[in-house]
Amino acid sequence: MSDTEKICKTCGRIITNPNNKTGLCPKCQKTGNNIFGVASAAGLIVLGKKFGPKIIKGAIKIIKR
Ligand SMILES: [Zn+2]
Repeated sequence: MSDTEKICKTCGRIITNPNNKTGLCPKCQKTGNNIFGVASAAGLIVLGKKFGPKIIKGAIKIIKR
């Protein structure tokens, strides 16, 4: 481990700012929120594919009542 060279978690660029605490380069810091949003959305899609049919069937049962 070295504190002298940090690499951006997202794009792999070397972060030159030693005060950087986010682990993201300035460019990715700006888009970081979007990336996390996309990641969580992708997670929801995966969950939806896994549990979607059951949930949809359950919802249909509730609607039919
Ligand atoms: Zn980056």
